[in-house]
Amino acid sequence: MEYRQLGRTGEKVSVIGIGCWGIGLSKDRRDWAGEVASLRRGVELGMNLIDTAERYSSGRSEELVGEAIRDFRDDVFIATKVAPPNLRHDAVIKACKESIRRLGVSYVDLYQIHWPDPAVPIKETMSAMERLVQDGMVRYIGVSNFSVSETDNARAALTRNEIASNQVEYALTNRSVEADILPYCVREKITLIAYSPLAHGRIARSVPNDILRKYDVTPAQAMLSWVTRNEQVVAIPKAGNIEHQEENASSIAVRFSAADYGKMP
Ligand code: NAP
Repeated sequence: MEYRQLGRTGEKVSVIGIGCWGIGLSKDRRDWAGEVASLRRGVELGMNLIDTAERYSSGRSEELVGEAIRDFRDDVFIATKVAPPNLRHDAVIKACKESIRRLGVSYVDLYQIHWPDPAVPIKETMSAMERLVQDGMVRYIGVSNFSVSETDNARAALTRNEIASNQVEYALTNRSVEADILPYCVREKITLIAYSPLAHGRIARSVPNDILRKYDVTPAQAMLSWVTRNEQVVAIPKAGNIEHQEENASSIAVRFSAADYGKMP
């Protein structure tokens, strides 16, 4: 596994992390055991960045992440999210405490605002985020689905901390962030956490066969290698089974030439 610095924090997170949307969604407990095993295998393979959210599976995603990492909490970097309608000051604090309880940890590494809410002043939300940092419940602050101007406003609303990351949708088949958010993140040294990097499982069929053969990769691995070709990007594919997790973890073992990345439609 390769690691990259998260924002300007000095923390190293894995280039390929683990997305946890949908973990715990099934009503069948046997599925949960498979998901926990897949998460543990990912961590074993060096994927230390685990992304979840209070919203995912109504909190069960956080609970299963907590179960999976119980014996090696210090080896992982847990990112979770507070969602609208919890962006008022006291609601942020309460939501964070509840996430911490479900995760069974004493702090969250990265606390992200899941979506901006224009109805709540960003200063109010950020003052709660800074309080959480001050009280040791959160180590770093991130945002998600923020435009460039929303990220600028979020940064300006902080008094003692920086925005470490912006989590946005980015995949071979969805490159819209390349127009503005990615160059902004590169310039400002904010990590772009690429979500849905496998296009929600609609694996691209368009990667040329000669590239797959040349680097001996699967189409999913080619997508992950492509999306993380910029040093400022890490990706968080979701894998509900061990085979997918292993395939994803080894996706950046081979880097393609710039010319070959350019050939990927
Ligand atoms: P994704 O990672 O693009 O795709 C996940 C799908 O791909 C699953 O169906 C998975 O199947 C399949 N898959 C995984 N590895 C594979 C492989 N090697 N070969 C073939 N199929 C493979 O989609 P996502 O779950 O939407 O996004 C990933 C993460 O991003 C989420 O889990 C979440 O943490 C985050 N996210 C954040 C936001 C936000 O608003 N911030 C929004 C969406 C997602 P199996 O489960 O069967 O392995």
